[in-house]
Amino acid sequence: MPTELRLAHGCVCLPAFLPDATRGFVRTVDSADLERCDVPAVVMSTFHLMQNPGSSTVKALGGLHRMAAWPRPIVTDSGGFQAYSLIRENPRHGTLSSKGITFRPEGASRPFHLTAEKTIQLQVGFGSDLVICLDDCRHPDEPESVQAESVERTIRWARQGKAELARLLEQRAGRDDARPLIFAVIQGGVSRALRKRCAEELLEIGFDGFGFGGWPFSGSGELLVDVLAYTRELVPRGIPLHALGIGHPLHVVTTAALGYDLFDSALPTRDARDGRLYGFTAPPSARDLHASTDWFRYVYVADARHTKARGGVYEGCPCYTCRQYSLAYLRHLFVNRDALYMRLATIHNLTFMAQVTRLLRGTPDD
Ligand SMILES: [Zn+2]
Repeated sequence: MPTELRLAHGCVCLPAFLPDATRGFVRTVDSADLERCDVPAVVMSTFHLMQNPGSSTVKALGGLHRMAAWPRPIVTDSGGFQAYSLIRENPRHGTLSSKGITFRPEGASRPFHLTAEKTIQLQVGFGSDLVICLDDCRHPDEPESVQAESVERTIRWARQGKAELARLLEQRAGRDDARPLIFAVIQGGVSRALRKRCAEELLEIGFDGFGFGGWPFSGSGELLVDVLAYTRELVPRGIPLHALGIGHPLHVVTTAALGYDLFDSALPTRDARDGRLYGFTAPPSARDLHASTDWFRYVYVADARHTKARGGVYEGCPCYTCRQYSLAYLRHLFVNRDALYMRLATIHNLTFMAQVTRLLRGTPDD
């Protein structure tokens, strides 16, 4: 398995969890907070940034790194997943065809278009360290004929995306900007035959890494462990695989054990804001993580029994928040709906995710 990902703005040790900075920020924390939490890189959303603040504004502000004052790597997604989710929610919001995706979010004054080439142009223009090809995302419950069409489209769009990146790099030949890495997404729903076809074709085209595409949960919310495991087997171990959208600590551990290297989700930061803090039940070790799920627990900050809790969220938490403040004070901020709670809680949960991935790497003190 790869142990690191070398990107233009630094090296990411694998496995790594990357928080979603969807609109160019992780809610309530700034880049200094993120560095303090040992966040190695963030994922930003092309779908959202192209609408707000818009690609010309990002460019005018010097690209995403300068705009967000974030010195470490930025991964950008293709926008395909969000556009698909929007259209699935309400077909009036757009259309998806072999040419690309057209969408018009609620309240938008004009439609937006995403094609295989356009998404790469946007991501390169943003200054991304790792760009992702447009894919045709489908829900695992959709019929096999729909999945088959999605696979063919995803392969075609990936080929076009790679060619577009090569064209853009050619244009800027001579400049010393490091080349962004390019990942393609493996679709195919729950069909092994389709996952295999998609992976084989994409490997043939050649990419720096791949993402597991499609919603990674069943209709009842169970992680699709069999499909995730099978898809990992299709990609040679030396090539990194990103478990797109996976971010619950227990799911990260399960999926890392299958051989996945990168994880991203808005879940840990959303949980923090909602009052669900993450905790270890005892001083953790890598062995504990794989032995059972007992190592993990939620600490519900609103619980009245924390009213006079003088320690941190859990005993021995090394995060900035728990070194400065008690769980009781966090609860006080939470019940008074103070914005400081959200910042401190987000710092705690992101530090927890960094600790989990450090344990998975087997280097608890790096
Ligand atoms: Zn803490």
